[in-house]
Amino acid sequence: MPVQVETLSLLNAVQALALAIMLWVGTHGDGGRGLLAIRLRAGALGLEAAGYALLAMQAFIPPAGLLMGGNALNLLAQMMVVVSIRLLVGKPLRLVAAGAIALIGWGGVAWLGIVHPDYRLRVLWGSVAIIGNVLLNIDALRGGCRDSGTRARCVLLWVYLLALALVLWRNGALWLGVNPPDQIATPSPVNVFYILLSGMQPLFASIGFLLLYNEILRRELHDLARVDPLTGVANRRAIGEASDRMLDEARAWRGSVGVLLVDADYFKEVNDRFGHDGGDKVLQSLVGCIQRILRADDIVGRVGGEEFLVLSPGVDAVGVAVLAERIRATVANSALRIDDQDVHLTVSIGTAVAGPGHWDMTALRRRADAALYAAKRAGRNRVMAAVQDDDPLPATTQPA
Ligand code: GH3
Ligand code: MG
Ligand code: MG
Repeated sequence: MPVQVETLSLLNAVQALALAIMLWVGTHGDGGRGLLAIRLRAGALGLEAAGYALLAMQAFIPPAGLLMGGNALNLLAQMMVVVSIRLLVGKPLRLVAAGAIALIGWGGVAWLGIVHPDYRLRVLWGSVAIIGNVLLNIDALRGGCRDSGTRARCVLLWVYLLALALVLWRNGALWLGVNPPDQIATPSPVNVFYILLSGMQPLFASIGFLLLYNEILRRELHDLARVDPLTGVANRRAIGEASDRMLDEARAWRGSVGVLLVDADYFKEVNDRFGHDGGDKVLQSLVGCIQRILRADDIVGRVGGEEFLVLSPGVDAVGVAVLAERIRATVANSALRIDDQDVHLTVSIGTAVAGPGHWDMTALRRRADAALYAAKRAGRNRVMAAVQDDDPLPATTQPA
């Protein structure tokens, strides 16, 4: 196939430059680490474009300049790609490892290209550097193919696995093939394919990178829409979704779920005494108190200003009473400090149990609410359990 390495390199340079400009111009403003990662990726593409441009102009550049300049640009670009991917997925940046790979890779290529020329060894040395960087990327994306929520991570992982295969194939062809080329610009099948495929790599990797950015943004938005910003626990929407899941599971296994409605007593007075900000701190401490008692499978969500819903799977009427009493007693015995003053907060709790014949969350919430109301009327700082039929009156009371 009569394809010129210079022509291919020029095409690759134009493509990488166009991608770099698109990524740079298309990202604007203060977008946190995601946007910074994209801009780093754009910078890497710019360096890759310059590297391909050097190769396209090899006829006008001294061989040593081409070798050192081309490899410096390429290794620097790889280092920036490693950092950008790790920044995007929130992994440690590994700047020292990536920097060491670039320096050692470049030094080795210089030695084997100028001081002790050996093309195959030089390619092998450069390939080890590429493999080191690709492994850092694979490490950042590892586990991406395990579930459907990280498809983009999986796609990018495959791009890097294919890049790894390409590098191994190139070295295999150089060491085991008949008439291997003696420089990258020799128009041999292995060189043409290598430059062609590695030239397409910026396009595949950029699309994969943008897919990954989109996936991470969507996950962050999904989480943001489900977290209560003040206390960090599930908001009304998230606890609603969690309760549906929990009830479905309990129904399938013929289990039960404890439902607790926790409401802070006389919270208006806390606000009156310490202001709204002080009240906010008390709410955060209250959530901390509740969370310390819960098991890993339990979940707490904020369903009102100072009202929280706790769901505890596998808990029956006795278990839910014990859990509620522990929460009540812990809150009552914890002195919270706001502005160097002690705040003694108490809570009232209404409980219900989801089990056979009682799977309707709205009805369960209504009964727990009625029990909570009864606990308030009985003097507050107490737990009351709802009856398991549709009678909204509480079955038992547990005065503090
Ligand atoms: P009760 O014992 O009957 O529950 O009395 P209460 O004062 O706690 O009851 P009420 O529901 O009337 O008042 C709740 C107060 O909680 C009123 C509201 O200003 C306050 N509140 C609601 N959301 C927030 C919040 O996010 N931060 C703060 N600081 N206060 C809040
Ligand atoms: Mg209240
Ligand atoms: Mg309330």
